[in-house]
Amino acid sequence: MGQALSFFPAPADDETIYSACARFHQLAGRSNSESSSELLLGHAVGGSEIDLVSGLQHLQEASYGLIPCNLETLRQRSVLRAYLPFMSAARRRQVLTACSSSQSPLPIRAERGLTWSCSMLEHHLRACPECAAEHLQAGFAYWVTGHQLPGVWVCLRHRCALRSMCRRGHRNMTWATVAGAKFDVRPEPSRDLFAALCNISTCVEWLSAQPSVNLEVLLMQFRSRMRESGFSRSDVKVTDEELRQLHELMHLTIGSGIPHFAGYDKVNWIRLTVRDLRFAHPLHWAMLLAFSGDACEASLAQEYADAQARLPELELFEDPSVTRRACAPASLYKAMEQFERLEICAQRSSLRIGEVQRWLLRDPALAEHRKASEFKIKHRAATQCIEGALLHNPSLTRVGVLRRVPWAFRWLEAHDPELLGRLTPAPYGRQRTLFSSPSQSHPCAAPS
Ligand SMILES: [Zn+2]
Repeated sequence: MGQALSFFPAPADDETIYSACARFHQLAGRSNSESSSELLLGHAVGGSEIDLVSGLQHLQEASYGLIPCNLETLRQRSVLRAYLPFMSAARRRQVLTACSSSQSPLPIRAERGLTWSCSMLEHHLRACPECAAEHLQAGFAYWVTGHQLPGVWVCLRHRCALRSMCRRGHRNMTWATVAGAKFDVRPEPSRDLFAALCNISTCVEWLSAQPSVNLEVLLMQFRSRMRESGFSRSDVKVTDEELRQLHELMHLTIGSGIPHFAGYDKVNWIRLTVRDLRFAHPLHWAMLLAFSGDACEASLAQEYADAQARLPELELFEDPSVTRRACAPASLYKAMEQFERLEICAQRSSLRIGEVQRWLLRDPALAEHRKASEFKIKHRAATQCIEGALLHNPSLTRVGVLRRVPWAFRWLEAHDPELLGRLTPAPYGRQRTLFSSPSQSHPCAAPS
């Protein structure tokens, strides 16, 4: 077990565990990286583990609890922020146990929560020059957690490319600091590449901020995005050919020069990610979202909520043999609230008329919704017609209203006679003999 150190500098809110340890090592004026690692983490190799966490229990004691040993710390201060949402609660507990331990040899990467990926074998240490200049003014330039996540190569706050520390040997135990690091020299990204990197970073951040993600919901969200961007013909199924075209666009934009994306030059990963949910990796999903539509946190959240609402709720069916039926897209539900004609509903929800008709058969709730919406639309239209006629000619009698807008009058007469009574002027004079009082259920008969 660790002992409290006489000095441990308070880490910044968005500083990684690695950075806080490097800060201690530097500010304490220590020269031996391995012995600092022993003091902080209970093992010697912390300086070489730029993206991993271990010895968290030891660090909690050494830091006077400034860095507590819990899942919140892993989210706040390590690349696991991107991986935890994809894990079950049980898996998260296992990962926390592995990260808490200082045992030697250390548990392997997968045990500490870093899912294997075809594309990236490690997370490079990255820093934003403008963030670093700001931090330096406050005393110490640190490694920002959000900049270390897989696939993040831009600072969304400063809209600039991140710089990546030159790769070092795996046995290099030195605690790397932003101020002391040697950075790779890379050409400035083109405008298209920069825009794509911003979109990917936004999607990585959005995914990482979720407490947990349901892959089936994410898949439904992806299919809707593909459909709405015109990549795919249906939001029920994405074909291999459609995935191949998406991959082509990704590859043309990203290329394979930037670390983390090198393995994405083969199309296989997309098919595996979409077809086999066990293949989930945060960067795969961020790429799929980033290239299939707008990357804006608010719309991503809205789409996810819409997709979640469409997922059949299994627990509602006690009998497991009951067929699970998916719901139609929320956009179609919304369109039906406003428009009666199927062609317009299809247009408004970016679907083909045939798809709308199929959804009406597949989703019984949609058919119900359509019936209720039709009633509301007609009710609204009839009310507006009568109000409009009276506004245009305030001296209209009830008969006058009937002659001016017969459809609206007859519809309300049949479906909401009470409202018709309130809207139309009370009958008087000769007409009193034609109409009964508005409080009765059928206030008016057709004029003879
Ligand atoms: Zn920045």
